[in-house]
Amino acid sequence: MSQWFASGAHNEPGSPRKTRREIGQVVSPTGRDYSRLERTAFCRERTARLAVAVVGAGALGNEVIKNLALLGVGRLAVVDRDCLEASNLTRSVLFCMGDASGHLAEATPKARLAAVRAKELNPDVQTGWLAADISEVGATRWTGFDVVFSCLDNASARLDLSRLCLRTDRLLVDGGLGLANSSDGLISIFPGRSGPCYACRKGRQRRAELIAELYARAVPCWGREAEAQDGGFVATTPLLASAVGAFQVELGLRAVFAAEQSNHRGQAVRLRMHPAPAISRFVFDRSPSCPLHFDTETESLEIPGRSDQVTVRQLLDATGEPGCYLALDGAIVHRAVCPTCQLEWSPMRRRRCLGAVTCPACGGFRVREVDALVQIERDSSWAETTLTDLGLPSGHLHEIVNPRASDKRFWVELIEDRDNPRGGVQWD
Ligand SMILES: [Zn+2]
Ligand SMILES: [Zn+2]
Repeated sequence: MSQWFASGAHNEPGSPRKTRREIGQVVSPTGRDYSRLERTAFCRERTARLAVAVVGAGALGNEVIKNLALLGVGRLAVVDRDCLEASNLTRSVLFCMGDASGHLAEATPKARLAAVRAKELNPDVQTGWLAADISEVGATRWTGFDVVFSCLDNASARLDLSRLCLRTDRLLVDGGLGLANSSDGLISIFPGRSGPCYACRKGRQRRAELIAELYARAVPCWGREAEAQDGGFVATTPLLASAVGAFQVELGLRAVFAAEQSNHRGQAVRLRMHPAPAISRFVFDRSPSCPLHFDTETESLEIPGRSDQVTVRQLLDATGEPGCYLALDGAIVHRAVCPTCQLEWSPMRRRRCLGAVTCPACGGFRVREVDALVQIERDSSWAETTLTDLGLPSGHLHEIVNPRASDKRFWVELIEDRDNPRGGVQWD
């Protein structure tokens, strides 16, 4: 190692050039010595400035969080809606140590436990957590992050997060496990508003299915089939999670550091560990037929008020243009039925999240959708409902469309939501 240090020629191209003397001084106030990272792309000067979000704290999320903590990113937020379960322990490096059984008994939110462990790994990192689904997190809450790591386990949630990152122009680095088998993974980089989204890379048919699952007023037939089959989880190993998580952080952080040279194309790396180990790289572009990108006129508005006070009608009136409607990000189920006791009620939850809803009368699962909302016009009976009562997140950029003006779009933000902690990350 002394030989390695002896020559400045080992400075990685593009990384800040350091003398040995400077490297010897890279010790943080907590006493952590970062000198071995100084001649890599991940030197202290760069990583300490980064604010990153990791969405999904499963097997892959654990690896990504561990890597980011070891590299010493400045701020690290973890978002996950679930609580710790016994099956997490065999694949999740952050959950199987210490008092795991106590956290299982208490059903600790995975986001909170992952943030606590990240802080234990590296006290230099400011950590934060939020136990919520991404549909409960307003779009503006993502704007404070340089990069968002997606470690989700299903396509609908990935598409939702990809749309949020398009709207807020965030770099998104997605990791997927077990696509073809339990030794196969995919890492994808979506550069932001001017680049492709998650749906762009799908074939026409699959894209239409995914978008219908999110937006269509009625549950599409293939959605019902998937619901009926229930729980077709993907088999994954800690080995694949470790490999994909390493690529995700390496490629993702390099993409952040190179942002100014970005060419607005998507990049992906496919990784196969078995039967014949292989790595392939490809690029992809925005699909001209993907409907999730807007080339029509757009206008941003900031209006006074908070989500729990402002109604849909007030939001529509703020545009000053008649005939507009509020376009919801995804279908909101306003009537559902319990198959056990036949109770019908109004859960006001996104269709994608209905699997986590239980019957308020008997506690039964497998709740079925009866009807959903996808947009609200000014004369709708829902127009007097507040945004909170509709199940919309605080701090959101609400999408309003004017069909009389070639689908001109408004992005409306409520100013007082900025001070509302609901739907925001809790920092240490
Ligand atoms: Zn797209
Ligand atoms: Zn019931």
